[in-house]
Amino acid sequence: MAIVALAGNPNSGKTTLFNALTGARQHVGNYPGITVDRKKGTYVKKGLSLEIEDLPGIYSLSAYSSEEVVAREFLTTQSPDGVVNVVDGSNLERNLYLTVQLLEMGLPMCIAINMMDVAETRGMDIDHKALSRLIGVPVVPVVARKGQGIDELMEVASGLSQSTQPPFRISYGSDLDQALDVMTSIIERNPSLAEAARPRWSALKYLEGDQVIKDSIAKESPKTDQELSSIALELERHLRTTLDTYPEAMIADQRYGYIKSILRQGVLVYRKDRDAPT
Ligand code: GDP
Ligand code: MG
Repeated sequence: MAIVALAGNPNSGKTTLFNALTGARQHVGNYPGITVDRKKGTYVKKGLSLEIEDLPGIYSLSAYSSEEVVAREFLTTQSPDGVVNVVDGSNLERNLYLTVQLLEMGLPMCIAINMMDVAETRGMDIDHKALSRLIGVPVVPVVARKGQGIDELMEVASGLSQSTQPPFRISYGSDLDQALDVMTSIIERNPSLAEAARPRWSALKYLEGDQVIKDSIAKESPKTDQELSSIALELERHLRTTLDTYPEAMIADQRYGYIKSILRQGVLVYRKDRDAPT
């Protein structure tokens, strides 16, 4: 059975969606060795049958909390057939920070914009088609609490593994982009590295100072780690001298900037008439 993982920020409505999709067909357990809940269930409808995994809620794909470690492990090692990024539409800007990181992983992904009812009462007009066009993956508006849009969502999610997604890229500025390109090709040239499956994402993580990626590369190939490390150090030195910043901060800033620019291209408009009688 195809596996579909639900990934999103805490309180984006993942579990509500999971319950609406799976009803009583659920298994709840624990991930080995830690207290993070593991919820699996099946969605069955109209000849479609999918295994749904409700991943722990996370704000980013770093490895600072056990939730992040679990979600990341699942996404990188279980290679789900589809990832549904559940986004709280009433907090669109903040939620898209994780979206950008998931897109950078390059997994077959679609977005469920949840809480469309809340967004509506707050006078937010969300153009999901514009968002889809700008970021290159399908976007489905849903109201998980009422079960609205969830069958359309599963239809889209089930087709993800057969569709081709354009590679998602944002620019981090010329200095960082250049380092990123070189690091990506170094990782790519080492097919024995697990990171070679997601070379650009791994290079980005390396520049963010991600210890899990660094340790993993160092263990498999100390020479590769040395090459990457010297590029990262050189970039760090250069960014400190020229812009008084460092790679991790620059990456976060550019992601936020990208999200702002997306929202301003017609994706999010606040209605002026929201108090008008209907
Ligand atoms: P999770 O942390 O991502 O698993 O989020 P939950 O499923 O626990 O949902 C967080 C809160 O949002 C709960 O109080 C839900 O009832 C509520 N919620 C979930 N989906 C919707 C929705 O579409 N509309 C509204 N108004 N509330 C929702
Ligand atoms: Mg939950």
